[in-house]
Amino acid sequence: MERMPTKVALLGATGSIGRQTLDVVAAHPERLAVTALAARGEDAGALDALARRFGARAVLEKRDGVEAVIALAASADVDLVVVGIPGFAALRPTLAALEAGKRVATANKELLVVAGHLVRRYVPEGAGDRLRPVDSEHSALWQCLTGERRDAVARVALTASGGPFRDLPLAELDAATPDAALRHPTWRMGPKVTVDSATLVNKGFEVIEAHWLFDLPYERVDVIVHPESVVHALVEYADGSVKAQLASPDMRLPIQYALLWPDRLASPAERLDLRGLDLRFRPVDPARYPSLALVVEAGRRGGAHAVAVNAADELAVRRFLAGEIRYTEIPRLLERALALAERANLPREPELDAIVAFDAEVRRALGEAAAVA
Ligand code: MG
Repeated sequence: MERMPTKVALLGATGSIGRQTLDVVAAHPERLAVTALAARGEDAGALDALARRFGARAVLEKRDGVEAVIALAASADVDLVVVGIPGFAALRPTLAALEAGKRVATANKELLVVAGHLVRRYVPEGAGDRLRPVDSEHSALWQCLTGERRDAVARVALTASGGPFRDLPLAELDAATPDAALRHPTWRMGPKVTVDSATLVNKGFEVIEAHWLFDLPYERVDVIVHPESVVHALVEYADGSVKAQLASPDMRLPIQYALLWPDRLASPAERLDLRGLDLRFRPVDPARYPSLALVVEAGRRGGAHAVAVNAADELAVRRFLAGEIRYTEIPRLLERALALAERANLPREPELDAIVAFDAEVRRALGEAAAVA
């Protein structure tokens, strides 16, 4: 049967997720058509070139304003919005897309970390047709949970490569440089998420995402270090059986799964060759990754805590990359933000305006002007 291609809007078209999404779209012209592209930054030339190549209209946030991005995410010529922009800035456009009844495929973490409760208001069922995780670990969980009863899940585990400092002597962490933090051993990603992968803040965010996407209580979501990044997540069932999803560390696979779900077609992603692979798993060392427990606890407490830890990390990573603070000061900033949350007067499930206001307050208190959300 002839079917119309899914009309895709891509937020963050010039970034890492954006480029790989366009690879997937180009590989499946009969199923996917990009109708709208948005990017945040300065690179108007690159965005316009992509728009011409894909025959899509383009919105540059810096030139056209954030309202134009929000309008694009909710516009009539869009079926599915791919959220490929990192950070807090994704909140308003994504919630607008959900409100307008669009399907959303999200690689953005902050959305679920600070506003998981708002997302679930639009999509009470969690991950599925209308809310499609792009993050490799959540794509893996989604794939492992398909066809299974949720009440048969005993626990799940998200894998973490351990980042570039996995084997660095602990005493040398203090002197770890931005350049070294950006050399991720297995994945190619944007700078924010790459540093978050070194600290495991990223994995803490992913625990929170898993909670919101799959209705998992925090005590049933484990993190395990797996240096090869081949097993992306595991689900243990009531009978002791464990299902895992394996694939090469190539984001084009989870992106395609999200875009074509529930269908599986040939993919431009690199294929996995199990021969010669040596897969290792080990527990997380809390002394090496103090940020992980801070982030998970912030998620468990919700509200102000989740907002605070997210704002503090965005700030901390930017300041670390700018050479203003040491690597080991990142968890100290998270702790300071959590102390602010302790004194804040915010409900456990705050509305968007309260989230935006408290986010700005945390950034101000930690010594920098608020980002525009
Ligand atoms: Mg991930």
